[in-house]
Amino acid sequence: MAFHLMQRDRQGAQRLAGAMGAALERVRHCERCNNFSEETVCTLCLSPRRDGRLLCVIETPADLLMMEQAQCYSGLYFVLMGALSPLDGIGPHDIHLERLLKRAADGVVQEVMIATNFTVEGEATAHYAGEMLRSRGLRVTRIARGLPVGGELEHVDSGTLAQAVLDRRNL
Ligand SMILES: [Zn+2]
Repeated sequence: MAFHLMQRDRQGAQRLAGAMGAALERVRHCERCNNFSEETVCTLCLSPRRDGRLLCVIETPADLLMMEQAQCYSGLYFVLMGALSPLDGIGPHDIHLERLLKRAADGVVQEVMIATNFTVEGEATAHYAGEMLRSRGLRVTRIARGLPVGGELEHVDSGTLAQAVLDRRNL
């Protein structure tokens, strides 16, 4: 992209550089959800339409956008900005777990829903954060996994199918 801009669109490169500079100056982390925000507390956290009893823990701002696009959740969020990964030197402090604990203990939150990825790092993070939150007397849930919408058993991988069988629920 840098080569393309330098060669074909130098004005565009200038605008992009300006926009990046302004973003770096203005954008910080929301005090409550840790997502990127230009304000101390972001508009989502301040919205009276959101249910403060539900707190969803996700890895990245992109995950938050996906959750919002799915229009299936009306609670609030906490963005870890990563996942536990000892091999990469990312520990509990790097993903702001103390802040999550403090946020979840506001007296309003009744359920913490952990929606980290189903990767090794995401699962380790879910387990670690879950234990921590549960030890403080909070109700902790994990999003379900299973077959994709429109998916057929014949075409799904055996790991996903096995998990769907283990996580089956009453009909
Ligand atoms: Zn926020």
